[in-house]
Amino acid sequence: MAKIIVIEDEANIREEVMDWLLFEGYEVVGASNGRLGLDAVYRENPDLILCDITMPEVDGHEVLIEVRADVNLSHIPFIFLTAAADRDSVRRGMDLGADDYMTKPFTHSEVLNAVRSRLDKRAMQNSQMQQQLESLGSAFQEERGKRLLKSRLVAMFSHDFRNPLAAILSSAEILEHYGERLDTARKVKHLHMISGAVYTLLQMLDDMLLVAEIDSEHLKYVPQPTDLTGLINTIIDEFRLIDRQTHEITYSSDVESFEVVDPKLIRQIVANLVSNALKYSPAETEVSVKLTAGHDQLQLRVQDKGRGIPDAEVPHLFEPFYRASNVTNVKGTGLGLSIVSECVRQHQGHIEVSSVLGQGTCFLVQLPRQNDKEG
Ligand code: ATP
Ligand code: MG
Repeated sequence: MAKIIVIEDEANIREEVMDWLLFEGYEVVGASNGRLGLDAVYRENPDLILCDITMPEVDGHEVLIEVRADVNLSHIPFIFLTAAADRDSVRRGMDLGADDYMTKPFTHSEVLNAVRSRLDKRAMQNSQMQQQLESLGSAFQEERGKRLLKSRLVAMFSHDFRNPLAAILSSAEILEHYGERLDTARKVKHLHMISGAVYTLLQMLDDMLLVAEIDSEHLKYVPQPTDLTGLINTIIDEFRLIDRQTHEITYSSDVESFEVVDPKLIRQIVANLVSNALKYSPAETEVSVKLTAGHDQLQLRVQDKGRGIPDAEVPHLFEPFYRASNVTNVKGTGLGLSIVSECVRQHQGHIEVSSVLGQGTCFLVQLPRQNDKEG
């Protein structure tokens, strides 16, 4: 219960007010003059002060000035108890920062109402302050998270870029110094090594730029009528080239109309899901991509017959840099699915995973159809 200090030199008034408050369950401390009152305030750190103005030695104004000047006490609600004749000194008291005043003689309910309303107001201010603190706290956490992401991007940049760069350098040097002595097959092997490493670097660079865009909320969503079936077909063909027929990549679509989507983001979704399906499934298995259209939804399924994902790790897959324990032997940055999830979110769509360890994984992306049928 709140603690209240009553500073009043007239003993009968002081005791009456204290009794009213005690009876309501407040903790009450009395003081018979300003000097003792201030001692009590410092000692008790009360929730509210009721204080007479005219008192010998230290008067009510001086008490108020001292309280308001002390950072640890300045927030305490302060109510003056004053004689009817004290109009000028009441005004001065309010100017000095009192919260309220009560004119003698006051009734039991006047005192209790004034006390309650001040304490309620104080409690509300406290809870608002608490909320502000909490939202500041979460903004701070978010900012920290972003900085962490940035520093991880920089760390990845310097670490993961070294290997492909070193591979390019070494193949280029071999070709430069020993080119004449190499047969065609070995020359081609080194050229492939270079183009493969360049491809990896470009892919990593694109991912990082995209994550930076997402992070700084600069990723733009630009929907436009798109030949979705054709777009996905092009992406799949690119993967068939890269995969060099290691897998059987199948693609089917029943979407014939143009669909309003952002083709750049769709490319990210499809490319990352297909790249994962290829990376995490053994050679000669099937990777199937299916696009179907319902009345108000498009569904994209990317299914593989690969290693699968442990159930417990599924909830984390879409976090940036998260890589599950099933892929320690395969290279990757853990950025792909975080990009996918943002691109799906931009389309106001939904993504889900079903996976069985050792049997395969299916990612299902659902996007609302936004076609303006008149257009
Ligand atoms: P990259 O940034 O190069 O794509 P990555 O493939 O490791 O790296 P994500 O694409 O974000 O990163 O995938 C996160 C993790 O989810 C993977 O590391 C892997 O553990 C798991 N995962 C994703 N797709 C599959 C899949 N088809 N089969 C098995 N595991 C998968
Ligand atoms: Mg990936």
